[in-house]
Amino acid sequence: MRDRNREHDAAGRFAPSPTGPLHVGNLRTALLAWLFARFAGARFLVRVEDIDHSRVRPGIEEAQLDDLRAMGLDWDGPIVRQSERMGLYEDAIAWLDAEGLLYPCYCTRKEIRAAASAPHGISNADRYPGTCRELTRAERVEKEVAGRPPALRVRAEGNRIEFRDRVLGHQEAQTDDFVVRRNDGAPAYQLAVIVDDADQGIGEVVRGADLVDSTPRQILLCRLLGLPIPRYAHVPLVLGPDGQRLAKRHGAVTLADRAAAGEGPGDVLAWMARTLGLAEPGEKPGIEDLLSRFDPERLPRVPTVWSPGA
Ligand code: GLU
Repeated sequence: MRDRNREHDAAGRFAPSPTGPLHVGNLRTALLAWLFARFAGARFLVRVEDIDHSRVRPGIEEAQLDDLRAMGLDWDGPIVRQSERMGLYEDAIAWLDAEGLLYPCYCTRKEIRAAASAPHGISNADRYPGTCRELTRAERVEKEVAGRPPALRVRAEGNRIEFRDRVLGHQEAQTDDFVVRRNDGAPAYQLAVIVDDADQGIGEVVRGADLVDSTPRQILLCRLLGLPIPRYAHVPLVLGPDGQRLAKRHGAVTLADRAAAGEGPGDVLAWMARTLGLAEPGEKPGIEDLLSRFDPERLPRVPTVWSPGA
């Protein structure tokens, strides 16, 4: 699992999960990932994150790629699908396990929540309180006999991770013992994403600000596996009028919805350009115009509230 000596500042990426159609917020993030990469003269890759079988929906991958094309985005090389790369994730998990860095966890989500909300517990309900960290062999056998398949967690030892985000500035957080293999046997997002970013030579990860809390975990995994740590740029989200992350319930938010409302991809691109300070009202710039105007240092730092036609 040591560094594969790849050239490491040569690619950017967009990594959608084919669980539902992309909305204008996802598409704006894709546009920004493309702009950051192309501005730097880097390759731009698209990776389909399709290992969560319970959430992947048929036909969505094709629809997402069509939408990216309709926006004028292009990418280098073939589409990479995580479902075709399971061996890589299993190797990484086996390597961590052989180093004694993993332990089986039999907790249900409900139990974790209950432990975390106990008076002496950790307040953040997403943080794992360490229940299974020091189980004896006999206790593990007892749980297995009871038929509970374990997830595998990493011994993060409360590591404090600091990094500089290109958009959000200095970040630091303490990592908990998070899951690297789920109890259905699937590799966890945190693990698959860093294995792929390293394997694909991603130098800068550009993604939505909603994922910034995952980054300390991912940096820790890179360190444990001896993989290079990419740079990070977590870009502002598009929010619904209620201040929540944009979603289907906010109305006509996909390219298909916009088309039904009489707006083509060029209109949507123009809206994005205006919200990013790259176009004046009434202007309809093409994607190459946006690239020639783009400056990563001048990216707005605040979210945009979705208001169609604005
Ligand atoms: N597949 C993730 C998502 O669609 C993004 C992962 C990433 O960019 O690191 O939310």
